[in-house]
Amino acid sequence: MTQQENIVKVLLVDDDELDRRLVKLVLVQSQGSVRFNIDTAASLSEALGKMQSGTYDIILEDMNLSDCRGTEIVEKVSAAVPNVPIVVLTGFDDDDAGLEAIRAGAEDYLVKGSGLEYTLVKTIRYAIERKKSKASLIEAKNELEQTNAQLMQTTIKANILAQEAEKANVAKSQFLANISHEIRTPMNAIIGFGEVLAEEPLGDVQKSYVKLILDSAKRLLLLINDILDFSRIEAGRMKVEKTECDVQELIANIESLMRPEATAKNLEFNVVCEQNVPPLIKTDSLKLRQCLINLVSNAIKFTEQGKIDIAVESFADNEKSFIEFRVTDTGIGIPADKHDAIFEVFTQADGSMTRKYGGTGLGLAVTRQLAKLLGGSIKFTSEEGKGSTFILSIPADVVHTCRKASSHDVIKEYNGKFSGEILVVEDSPANQLFLRRTLEKLGFTVSVTADGLQAIEAVQTEKFDLILMDMQLPNMKGFEVTKKLHSMGFKIPIIAMTASLMHEDEQQCRQAGSDDFIAKPIDCGLLIKVLCKYITQAEVVHTA
Ligand code: ADP
Repeated sequence: MTQQENIVKVLLVDDDELDRRLVKLVLVQSQGSVRFNIDTAASLSEALGKMQSGTYDIILEDMNLSDCRGTEIVEKVSAAVPNVPIVVLTGFDDDDAGLEAIRAGAEDYLVKGSGLEYTLVKTIRYAIERKKSKASLIEAKNELEQTNAQLMQTTIKANILAQEAEKANVAKSQFLANISHEIRTPMNAIIGFGEVLAEEPLGDVQKSYVKLILDSAKRLLLLINDILDFSRIEAGRMKVEKTECDVQELIANIESLMRPEATAKNLEFNVVCEQNVPPLIKTDSLKLRQCLINLVSNAIKFTEQGKIDIAVESFADNEKSFIEFRVTDTGIGIPADKHDAIFEVFTQADGSMTRKYGGTGLGLAVTRQLAKLLGGSIKFTSEEGKGSTFILSIPADVVHTCRKASSHDVIKEYNGKFSGEILVVEDSPANQLFLRRTLEKLGFTVSVTADGLQAIEAVQTEKFDLILMDMQLPNMKGFEVTKKLHSMGFKIPIIAMTASLMHEDEQQCRQAGSDDFIAKPIDCGLLIKVLCKYITQAEVVHTA
């Protein structure tokens, strides 16, 4: 139908001349908004021919033509012009025939004769509207089916991509585990021997060289750790392990680690831990320590004069307790327009600072992610030229037990001197030497074996108080040796040493029966702390 003119193009198919005239008359004389443009055909073949050359809004057709009869006419016409509505006009009022015509594809069924003038126009208009609605319904259905099919395709693709990404992630984590092991092992030797060398009687020039080597190696190690951490967080593989954490001890540890750096820059270094801070909380102390070290390192790094204040206090928010660690400096501050960016990866407030202060721009990104993993958050205030305050808050899940002795107390108690015999199972000659030197300095008698089989032999002939077991041994892996020793009934504490920091390795060591776990490069303070734990236990076992 031409909307503007409201003209309906009709093809009237009837072999009876009189009937054609009657219908034409009804349409022409109809009083309404619609006008009809009527074309006629006396047979089906003529009608089909006209349909090929012209377009119609409606087909009115008889059920009895000279070349075709009954519903077949409807079927053939609707096959030829599927989008054009068909109204059947017949001389007989036969309900069954009408239904059959509708089933064959007609929109309506009308009986010629009296009353046609009242029904025909309305029927035509309704038939056209119905056909249109049906067509748009079919179109919508088709579109829906198409969209569904596309959605299915997209879902399949997304699943494949997700699987590939997961595979890549696993491969990346594995790669990182391997590479971290490969890099951290020689770093262990570099830092270990650097420290040994620094204690030798050296000239000033040599001392400064050794210091340079040590500083660079430590910086490199920090960078490796940051990259490793960030990748692990990204891959969702950073696991949080909440255990008892002695807050005072943690702060003391950070103070003893960072104060020398601040003092070297002539900065005042104040630590205040408020009375209300619970002595023991449940958190992942290694990750908390890492966050604090990152914040304090930045404070020292970006401060040329003045002071660094570390304040620890506890507060409640909506009945939840938090511990807040505030690290305040009087350093260069952060320009207001960079406040939003500094937690982004590889972002530094001022690119030119990189050369002056060093750094990767990873520290705060990692710190924020770690804070999140701990259930906490991090925020800061800063004024350019005046200084910054970074505030880390974490949930204070209080542990209600007596305070443990801190490593400081224990070291004091031993006064730096131990006794007892330690077996070091380590294949790298550099690490063997480093551990022998360190342990002997602490007062231990040290035996060293380069592989697991020798270790098993040694344990059968000598009595050891503790075993330090490298996990990456040739032939028989450290955890296999540990298992074997357990199966042979030896109850000596075994401390696993590994350069790989992946969670799976730690689990594997623990499953094999390792009592504890120490990461390489070995931190002497941590080593002493672990030794204190087990040497005391070993003595108790011996005297029992
Ligand atoms: P970087 O390895 O560069 O220190 P971070 O992610 O730890 O990386 O910090 C990102 C940037 O935030 C730093 O480069 C520096 O511009 C800014 N920043 C962080 N802490 C401080 C601070 N205490 N004082 C001034 N600027 C800081």
